[in-house]
Amino acid sequence: MNLVVIGLAAVTIHLDLTGRREAAQASARMLSGILANEVDHYIRRVSLELQTIADEAARDGGATKPTDPAALRTFLDRHRTRVAGLAEISLVDPVGRRVLSSTGASLELPLSIGEMAFFAHLRDEAAAGLTVSRPVSDQNRQQRLLLLGYRIDRPDGGFGGAVIAILPSGYLTELFAATHPDPGMHISLINRKMEFIARYPEPPTMEGAAITTATSDETRALIETDTEAAPIHLLSRIDGNMRTSYLRKVPNQPLFFSVGIADEVFLKPWRAEGMRIGLLTAAFVALSLLLTLAVRRNWAEREAAIRALEEAHAEVRAHAERLDMVLRGANDGWWDWDILLDELYVSPRWWEMLGHPPKGSRGSPEIWWNRIHSDDLDRVRADLAQSLASDLTTVQIEIQLCHASGHYLPILMRGYILRDVSGRALRMSGTNTDLTEIRRFEATLQAMFDLSPLGKCRADADGRILDVNAALLDTVGMSRAELTGTILPGIVPQPGPGEEGLQRDRLDSTGTFGPFETGLTRPDGRTVSVRLRGVRIKADGGPASIYIIVEDISDERAVMQALEERTRDLARSNADLEQFAYVASHDLREPLRMVSGFLGLLERRYTPSLDAEGIQFIAFAKEGAQRMDRLILDLLDFSRIGRANTVLERVSVQTVIDQAIRNLAVGIEESGAQIAVEPSLSEARVIGDPTQLISLFQNLIGNALKYRNPDRPPVIRLTGRLDGGAWEISVADNGIGIEPEYFDRIFRIFQRLHTRDQFEGTGIGLAVCRKIVEHHGGRIWIESVPGEGSTFVLTLPASTD
Ligand code: ADP
Repeated sequence: MNLVVIGLAAVTIHLDLTGRREAAQASARMLSGILANEVDHYIRRVSLELQTIADEAARDGGATKPTDPAALRTFLDRHRTRVAGLAEISLVDPVGRRVLSSTGASLELPLSIGEMAFFAHLRDEAAAGLTVSRPVSDQNRQQRLLLLGYRIDRPDGGFGGAVIAILPSGYLTELFAATHPDPGMHISLINRKMEFIARYPEPPTMEGAAITTATSDETRALIETDTEAAPIHLLSRIDGNMRTSYLRKVPNQPLFFSVGIADEVFLKPWRAEGMRIGLLTAAFVALSLLLTLAVRRNWAEREAAIRALEEAHAEVRAHAERLDMVLRGANDGWWDWDILLDELYVSPRWWEMLGHPPKGSRGSPEIWWNRIHSDDLDRVRADLAQSLASDLTTVQIEIQLCHASGHYLPILMRGYILRDVSGRALRMSGTNTDLTEIRRFEATLQAMFDLSPLGKCRADADGRILDVNAALLDTVGMSRAELTGTILPGIVPQPGPGEEGLQRDRLDSTGTFGPFETGLTRPDGRTVSVRLRGVRIKADGGPASIYIIVEDISDERAVMQALEERTRDLARSNADLEQFAYVASHDLREPLRMVSGFLGLLERRYTPSLDAEGIQFIAFAKEGAQRMDRLILDLLDFSRIGRANTVLERVSVQTVIDQAIRNLAVGIEESGAQIAVEPSLSEARVIGDPTQLISLFQNLIGNALKYRNPDRPPVIRLTGRLDGGAWEISVADNGIGIEPEYFDRIFRIFQRLHTRDQFEGTGIGLAVCRKIVEHHGGRIWIESVPGEGSTFVLTLPASTD
């Protein structure tokens, strides 16, 4: 704001200066015009008079000695007086001597006219016209004199002398003064040589000598170029001031007017004005600064005070809020009871807890008493009175306070009592904790405890029962009354040897024990199997309790036992079956071989005596025997898998696949099959029996060759990936595929989907595969799209090293 005001003032002052300078210049220009006209007019007037005289003299044959000097003088003087200001008119002969002067004061000239340059000009220039001399000082140096001459022509055209008028500069000065120049204005009439002809005001002489020439280079330049009119700004030699001037040429004469105003003339009022504006501005700025300062200081003080107050408030608020927040974090409300004034403050949360708008309030402790449940009132009054009367500093009372909606909340009131030196209670402050959630939690826990199907109890370190649930009572066959307070042997592990001693050590060192299984003896003498686990909890510095979960595992034990027995039976019968299958297949081959042998004998010996049908019957019987042998061999193979003699070792999958492919070379060749084994399989190492694994892949690749699509040569791809701890290997073909409904069946023994005339086989291959894979701890399954192909996927445990 202040800057704007200062800026505005500066602009105003500047504009004022420009305006004033322009005005000065305008008046100088105007005045110079008037003066130039005046002087031009004056010179022409003089010229006219002199011309008349010159003409007269010419008629007389030039400026010669007059016959009647008195009459001539009068003549001259008459002409002199016709133009104001002329001091003298003289006739001068061709060598410059004054022949005769008018009657006016005859002036002594410092040098003879014949020596003057202007006279030479008159003499030499036939058409010189009125010629003005350079200024000459008169004898008294009072004023400058200007000689105006006119040539007198002799009748023969020669130089007949001149008529000269002498004009003192004083007249011109008067002429200038008559134009009423503005105060401070300077007027100078100068010639081409920059000599002053006349000046207004006449300046004082400097060091006794009048300044006779102007010196401004600017003026000189203008004069030399014959400039008609131009503004100049120059430094005056007279008073050393800057002038704003205007230069103007006098028409037809080598004379120039310089009309100027010292800058000082308009600078002074401008300065005064500027000063006035400056002062006003300064005053304004100062005032506004003062005001600002005053206001600032006032503000600063006020602000500081306000800030301090606010900080204090904020701190108090922050404390209160923090306190409220802390207590709120604990979900507590707080209160402050001034016992002497009997005034109670309760916090917003206190109210909120009771279902009221959360706004702190101060008032009578009745706020409190009015809300305490009537059942608690007497007890609370008594407790409180006792606490206040004692030297206790803390109080803790459980009360029920009335909620806005009418029900009662369980509240834990904890307070701190402030006492004076005599022990008198002055003040009590504290918190209200809503116990609703805790009560609800306790109730839930209690219900969980009571209703749990697991036996639960709380015992002391010796195993003395403090609390017990129904399930445990049921397990041990005792009533609550019988059990509570008595020691239940075995419920808490006691020091000693064996598992129980170890569990006791754990309880002592880590605070927990179990799960461990033991037996509890019931009063009826029966022992129940239980699984125990427990934790020691120490609360409020009191003795530790041990919480124990008692799982009755009698039934579980029985089931497990039955299961184990059944598993054992199953394993036994499996082994028997396997043994049977092995023995049967092994032993069956013997009589079969006999059947085959005798059939051969029958054929060889009795063919000639048999009719065609008889021969065919023998052929059927032989084929049947062969098939039976095949089946028995297959069964033998099958039953051999998993027998104790197999050795599991680290096997390279690539190696066993290569071997399987070699074994199938003929079939591969015949079918024109392409077999691609993915490079990743070269790293695959599994734990297995190499012979069985060769058989596994041989079966799968063999099937892919066998069950190929007749329209295309078989393409078989073997891929593998490590998945966790197992290799998952796929054998994919582009054969006939299998309907999903048979996915399971094909892995069963002797299960085939085709007849022998379609595809040769016994239906044991995939059963063997599954047995091998499962024996190795893996799985095998099939993914297939009928008509497109099948993929057999199997997993084998990877070898880690
Ligand atoms: P077999 O080949 O002796 O019949 P397998 O146990 O090897 O016995 O196969 C059982 C059945 O599963 C076969 O009869 C055949 O129908 C089907 N099968 C096995 N492998 C393939 C395969 N790669 N593509 C199509 N079907 C197959």
